[in-house]
Amino acid sequence: MHISSLLRRTLGLKGHKVKKVTMDDREIKAQLEARKGSRPICSSCGRKMPGYDTLRERSWRHVPLWWIPVTLTYRPRRGRCKRCGVVVEKMPWSQGKSSLSVPLIVLLATYARILPFEEVARLFSCHWNTVRSAVAQAVSFGLAHRDTGGITVIGIDEIARRKGHKYMTMVYDLSHMRLLWCGEGRDKAALRAFFSCLSKEEKEAIEVICCDMWRPYLDVVEEEVPGATLVFDKFHLVRHLLGAVDEVRREEARELKGRDPEVLKKTRYIFLKNPENLTRGQRARLSELEKLNLKINRAYLLKEAFRAFWDYTYPAWAESYLDQWIWWATHPVFRQVKFPVFSK
Ligand SMILES: [Zn+2]
Repeated sequence: MHISSLLRRTLGLKGHKVKKVTMDDREIKAQLEARKGSRPICSSCGRKMPGYDTLRERSWRHVPLWWIPVTLTYRPRRGRCKRCGVVVEKMPWSQGKSSLSVPLIVLLATYARILPFEEVARLFSCHWNTVRSAVAQAVSFGLAHRDTGGITVIGIDEIARRKGHKYMTMVYDLSHMRLLWCGEGRDKAALRAFFSCLSKEEKEAIEVICCDMWRPYLDVVEEEVPGATLVFDKFHLVRHLLGAVDEVRREEARELKGRDPEVLKKTRYIFLKNPENLTRGQRARLSELEKLNLKINRAYLLKEAFRAFWDYTYPAWAESYLDQWIWWATHPVFRQVKFPVFSK
């Protein structure tokens, strides 16, 4: 197969053709031209339009062949579109003002998902910035062509970057397991920016929202999609429970510092782990600690008692267990209470 037919096929050329392919010791150069009699297609509305003029030659970096750089050159035509006025024609290999061909953008962005930008740049002997720009273009293409129809279940999550100094808000389509949107910060503005991308109908179609008990998110959800059911998932709840246990342990360790500094030393993971995962030594230490009248024991029991909540299948029983649990948690008088388990 000739290089020209390879290019024609992979670029999906119809109204254009490969006029000439030349190769020197540095690169392969493919000169493209419009087919005789073909009318330019409006890049804005996609309709055929009468020709207007021809612009200066532009060049695009294309996917290398056998690691030899490939450059495409073409003189874009402009046409006079009935709807859009004088516009540049649509070229299937080109996106906006980018000097990278669409297949190269896709290729670089695909590799950048699995390799660091520096590695991709080295692999394709291009600059780091070229990879960064390819990724940015692929992302903006994806956002512009994203299908936001049929989203009924979404998940909102935050991720910490730079050791928790910076946060990002991520929104997932949980029915199709895909990332829909991400933005800087974890405040109300961050989440509002996501909802501003959706139409009124798209917002109304959302039935379930799964997110953390984070006040700014909850406020925005209430504002934007008041009809949706909020779900707090197990992962986030367990994280809060563990966080609370850890806080009680640290506080108590501080209180005991003067009297008994050794008693809570190296106990952090004993209280955070699930009991079935404790080592024999940790189990022995835990039963020693349980004999003491410590606040941490109560916090630990509450954390463990909450596990029973996940086993309920009947909502009414689950609700009544949750009410009980909240009562135990908010009434410190019943320090040594044994937690009964309801039928499930
Ligand atoms: Zn048009």
